[in-house]
Amino acid sequence: MIHLSHVSKSYKTSTRPALDDVSIDVDKGEFVFVIGPSGSGKSTFLRLVLREDVPTSGQIQVAGKDLGKLRRSKVPAHRRRLGCVFQDFRLLTNKTVEQNVGFALEVIGRPRAAIRKIVPEVLELVGLEGKARRLPHELSGGEQQRVAIARAFVNRPLLLLADEPTGNLDPDTSADIMLLLERINRTGTTVLMATHDNNIVDSMRRRVIELQLGKVVRDESRGVYGVGR
Ligand code: ADP
Ligand code: ADP
Repeated sequence: MIHLSHVSKSYKTSTRPALDDVSIDVDKGEFVFVIGPSGSGKSTFLRLVLREDVPTSGQIQVAGKDLGKLRRSKVPAHRRRLGCVFQDFRLLTNKTVEQNVGFALEVIGRPRAAIRKIVPEVLELVGLEGKARRLPHELSGGEQQRVAIARAFVNRPLLLLADEPTGNLDPDTSADIMLLLERINRTGTTVLMATHDNNIVDSMRRRVIELQLGKVVRDESRGVYGVGR
């Protein structure tokens, strides 16, 4: 699903590379945590996979596509094939829950009738049936993140990228969000999640890729957050 081969990324304004000769393979259906201290390169990794940025050297393939050969005009289509969830939810604040989710289908040209059928199904999947007509500010943080997950998942992406999705949530709400991401993973969607949340990583025992100063320093199939920590 994701294949990085000797990928480095240097920003002009920085002396050390944000990613330094990173090679990673993620198979279809995996659930992967990307951990590491602030500045270790987690967001850069996700941004390269999303093709929001390009590597300085090395190769990246996502879902069978060589991103180095992806034409600029195909970049939006590439991004739409992936789902994204962020720490700060990034909902459209003046649109209702169902409009936020429906919009993801509108932009790919799904007909109105299909949208009216699919959106309630996905809202039920994330436990938001009954909140379809609410605006984001009328919802709790956990509910807003559920809307964001519904929107990310409504196109049935092969890959879901989550950058600190529980960063603004309390531990109980975070645990609920993780149950939801596990459920989405069980449908066959590959999940790649950057996080600082040691409790979540330790309780899930999934693959852990640890970055430090832009290098992979650990890659374990059923890892915990910190060895001996
Ligand atoms: P993390 O997500 O683990 O906190 P990042 O990928 O955001 O790490 O950052 C990795 C390194 O790259 C840091 O040293 C950061 O300062 C640098 N960096 C990230 N984005 C940019 C940018 N747009 N311009 C310059 N430097 C950046
Ligand atoms: P209109 O009169 O334009 O149909 P609606 O209130 O029915 O106004 O819809 C406004 C927006 O909300 C539209 O973008 C529509 O796709 C979306 N929408 C309305 N109802 C649903 C629904 N049950 N499921 C999904 N999206 C809906």
